[in-house]
Amino acid sequence: SSLHDYRGRFAPSPTGPLHFGSLVTALASYLEAKSCEGHWLIRIEDLDPLREPPEATGEILNSLDTHGLFPDGPVHFQSQHHPAYHSAIEYLLSKGSAYRCSCSRKQLQANHGRHPRQCRDGGTTTSDQPFAIRFALNDEQCHWQDQLLGPQHQVVRAEIDDPVILRKEGFFAYQLAVVVDDISQGITHVVRGSDLLDMTAQQLQIYRALEAAPPRWLHIPVVVNDQGQKLSKQNHAPALDKHTPAENLFAALKALNQRPPQSLLAGSVEDLLEWACTHWKRGAVHLTSR
Ligand code: GLU
Repeated sequence: SSLHDYRGRFAPSPTGPLHFGSLVTALASYLEAKSCEGHWLIRIEDLDPLREPPEATGEILNSLDTHGLFPDGPVHFQSQHHPAYHSAIEYLLSKGSAYRCSCSRKQLQANHGRHPRQCRDGGTTTSDQPFAIRFALNDEQCHWQDQLLGPQHQVVRAEIDDPVILRKEGFFAYQLAVVVDDISQGITHVVRGSDLLDMTAQQLQIYRALEAAPPRWLHIPVVVNDQGQKLSKQNHAPALDKHTPAENLFAALKALNQRPPQSLLAGSVEDLLEWACTHWKRGAVHLTSR
């Protein structure tokens, strides 16, 4: 396959405005795609209206625009693709790779992660109980190669780790939607924060169950605050100052351990991104702070 077949994406959950940590992830995925002459797409992972202030999606998209990060195609909204997640779940149920589960978190904890109602084998769930749908994992010693972090080994435990793919509240879960969409959008390369590293082995099993080829993954260290916590909406990371996009990008490049010349600070966002695309060094990204 040629370099031009590269399709990458940035896939924020709109739980708040874009902050510095998400800009770093967006920029890394953009630069990987552009330096491979690939396509770079934006997907808004708006699966959980209860956690998403209505203005967040607009703020994120505006902020990406302000930073010159324009996608090579229409923005994909997960809220508009429920039928695709629904069919994937039907398919997984039909082949026995998913099951209904009405166990509470407490019950599972008390039972060491095993399902007291034997949910995986059809169990005793009656239709008047609220139920989630879980993906049925296989026990596996999973080995895969991260494009930055190198060889990865993850232990996947059937039953105990089975992820929810449809929540009791009726919302589709990230773990399913991310795979369904990366397949349907033809994503070949995923660049994202290493907080999602541990999800990858499970996602590989979902790709297999959907009979689709997985992408390559590249996990970048997440940006932490002075207390060593991940910058996130939960930790009240501040929104980016939209009046200083060049400075923000400059700082993001530094966080990725690139070495932009000081003179770029006086230039435009376009100058900065052009320099960054030409000089992008994946291997320079710090590996330490996971
Ligand atoms: N929506 C996820 C997040 O904001 C990222 C999903 C992914 O890149 O796989 O953390």
